[in-house]
Amino acid sequence: MQARTLTALRSLAVTGPLLVVLGACSGDRPGDLSRNMQADENALLPATSQIIISNAHLLDGSGTDIESGFLLISNGRIAEISSTPIVAEGALVIDASGKTVMPGYIEAHRHIIEGAPAEWMADKAQSEMQAFLEAGFTTVFSAGDPQTEILELRRRTAAGEIAGPRIIAAGRAPLAVSAAPGGEDDPARTDVSRPPLRPTVAAMPVSDEATEQRVTAISDAGFDAVKTVMVTTPEGPEIRTLGLIAQKAKALGLPTVTHAVTVQDTLAAVAAGGVATLVHTPHIGQLTAEEVRLIADSGIPITSTLGIFVPFFSDSNAPIFRDGEAFPWDTISSAGQGPVNARLLWEAGVVYGFGTDTRFAPSLTLEHELKSLHLVFSERDILKIMGENAAINIRMQDRIGSLRPGMYADLVLLEGNPLEDLYDLLQVTMVFKEGKIMVDKR
Ligand SMILES: [Zn+2]
Repeated sequence: MQARTLTALRSLAVTGPLLVVLGACSGDRPGDLSRNMQADENALLPATSQIIISNAHLLDGSGTDIESGFLLISNGRIAEISSTPIVAEGALVIDASGKTVMPGYIEAHRHIIEGAPAEWMADKAQSEMQAFLEAGFTTVFSAGDPQTEILELRRRTAAGEIAGPRIIAAGRAPLAVSAAPGGEDDPARTDVSRPPLRPTVAAMPVSDEATEQRVTAISDAGFDAVKTVMVTTPEGPEIRTLGLIAQKAKALGLPTVTHAVTVQDTLAAVAAGGVATLVHTPHIGQLTAEEVRLIADSGIPITSTLGIFVPFFSDSNAPIFRDGEAFPWDTISSAGQGPVNARLLWEAGVVYGFGTDTRFAPSLTLEHELKSLHLVFSERDILKIMGENAAINIRMQDRIGSLRPGMYADLVLLEGNPLEDLYDLLQVTMVFKEGKIMVDKR
């Protein structure tokens, strides 16, 4: 395993991702695959071009594993995969000897915009979207970001005005009237689902009418999903309201995804009925065999976010939390439960997919989540978690997450072989999104 030093999150928060943002490369000649593609419109090969990737290790963690294979990209899709050479007149041939080709990475739980939204859009959107691509991410699920800006960011990346991953965005609907106004702290640091902050009296219900109006507003705004946060209160309205939201959302063609971080709240979310994805592993409390069965029988996929409760280390060797502050050992001492619960759910057949619930640099979040997953999952398991399973978590498995003809040509080329060294997943040299070259560091 390659040891890599994690820079302190605190300094990351200040400096942002370390990126060289090049100017637009509009002067590049066709055929000159320059080192960095800045934006879709500057990608040198239109999506209609054919590209053959040759002599690559084709690998997706869910069946495709060809030691020296050939892949044809046509019209933005994977047209053919073969263990023998593919011939296509006029196609650009990329020799990928010694490299592994995998599906573009999928981040199934992320928060993208930080700080003042308008300023972020003006100053940071471009470099931060590029950072996702450079880390290998071609699809990102936003589980909660400022409404106007995330929808505009989704539009700009889809239109190619900003080079970035495909964005899928969720709008939030409350399960009860919040007892306390949200603080400035990282919600995982001051988690109300954990004693002593856990509510001890019933929360005020939101009226059915207001709930239905909220879901309709989320749909009308153009969101792709409804996000809910489950923290039950004694005799509270949360389970019933979540059921109503899921039903209403489904009628409007939207999936409902639910945050729950305790065993108790995860079971409550399952009991509500109609939830499409649980966006966290239950980290707090040990699942019994019966509870594992109940969750597995629901068929609801779960997003990992295992790295949240695993410390980073600062340059001065202090354990730090994802918000860059001191690691709160006193409040999250049950955190080690997450990986155990994750493996129990996996063994029971739960579709377990990759997501980080972070806001900092994508390459670092990837590395940190890999480290956490690797405690209880093999390299091959992790490839499935990052590929097909993450795609199922965001309901896109018919388009992304595995190497099959007909799928979007969202691809990552890596140095090495992640089955031998998991951290080769960080050695990204090329990234394609729907057949367009978005990153080229060869
Ligand atoms: Zn989240």
